Amino acid sequence: MEKFLQKYREAGLKLTPQRIAILTFLDGNTGHPTAEEIFAAVRETHPTVSFATVYNTLQALKTRGQLTEVTINPERKHFDPNTEPHHHAMCSECDKIVDIFDDFSEALKLPKDVGAGFDGFSVTGNHVEFYGVCGDCTE
Ligand SMILES: [Zn+2]
Ligand SMILES: [Zn+2]
Repeated sequence: MEKFLQKYREAGLKLTPQRIAILTFLDGNTGHPTAEEIFAAVRETHPTVSFATVYNTLQALKTRGQLTEVTINPERKHFDPNTEPHHHAMCSECDKIVDIFDDFSEALKLPKDVGAGFDGFSVTGNHVEFYGVCGDCTE
């Protein structure tokens, strides 16, 4: 078994051949694919895969904290296998979503933890969304 699959098995995810194909497509994927794009990619090697299987697998991964749902695009949900905290920027021309790993806590005065005047609300993370035009579309 491929090494990267081990963590999913340890998290209790049942690894069927179709799920392995989904996880293989997602592994290291920084393109923030939609469920439809993941479905299309997996169907090339597994023609019998259903959209429901893809959708259910994405939900199972999300529930286990191994997949992030990126909601920067109000029209479509995108998925990100990188669960390290980071931010996103979306191009208004081509809808491309790119990762931003800078920490804006200081600049934006974002509270790092509890008791920061949120009426007892515990802050567990933050996500900053940027909109603009990407390098490819600017040329
Ligand atoms: Zn663009
Ligand atoms: Zn991302």
